[in-house]
Amino acid sequence: MKFTIHGVRGSVPTPGVEYAKYGGNTSCFEIETCESQIFCDAGTGFRSAKLLREEKNVCVFFTHFHHDHIQGLPFNNDLFPEGTKICISSALYDKQTTRAVLKQYFSACFFPVNIFENLNHLSVQSFDDAKDALKRDVDISFINLKHPGGAVGYSFVKESKKVVILLDNEFQEPQLDGLSEFCKDADILIWDGMFTKEELLGKRGWGHSSIEQAEEFTKLCDVKKTVICHHAPYRSDTDIDELKARISSGRISFGCEKMSFYI
Ligand SMILES: [Zn+2]
Ligand SMILES: [Zn+2]
Repeated sequence: MKFTIHGVRGSVPTPGVEYAKYGGNTSCFEIETCESQIFCDAGTGFRSAKLLREEKNVCVFFTHFHHDHIQGLPFNNDLFPEGTKICISSALYDKQTTRAVLKQYFSACFFPVNIFENLNHLSVQSFDDAKDALKRDVDISFINLKHPGGAVGYSFVKESKKVVILLDNEFQEPQLDGLSEFCKDADILIWDGMFTKEELLGKRGWGHSSIEQAEEFTKLCDVKKTVICHHAPYRSDTDIDELKARISSGRISFGCEKMSFYI
């Protein structure tokens, strides 16, 4: 499968030359197989993704509904033409709640167009139904994470290949066993590295983990590659390069917009 990162930024998009190398768009990840095109979150990175609606089953799974994970949804032009259904789902809520939350966000007074009244081909499905529809191709599981308002992490497995996305999560020691098992043998793990260890001291309860925790977790767990994402909006390319230089493990990298992995 092909795994592409469309957005690496946490909280809010960050335009500007000092963010151009890693990218300023908010969370969006894509898994493409012969039959399916699966997105995890639709932050502003979703805007430039090419939707393969005519060729594949397109489904968007949301980790949670904070604005940096949903705000790009109606800005992808491929979403608008009538035609093949696009599935929207989340393991965080049942389908009625998923629909109600998105409907509220994408309608007046927050947004000019009510997306569910104007786009009949958007089909909100329960996680179980969406998982079932894709199960011959990709096996999808979820795990509850620690984040204000809740969030879920997803694992996508095709044959022996596995991608795990753990956004947004405030890592705590009691999660270690459950997350290790969930990430076991992952080819790629997306980690919430919003903060550094020092920054995290003043940000307890904000729902995010640190770059140093990515290192510790990767050391302890059976993960082939950890990609740190959800970069803080103030973190410039120079800052990330400096943090990168401090990491000795070859199994850890920093996510960069438009980075693709063939696994
Ligand atoms: Zn976020
Ligand atoms: Zn969040």
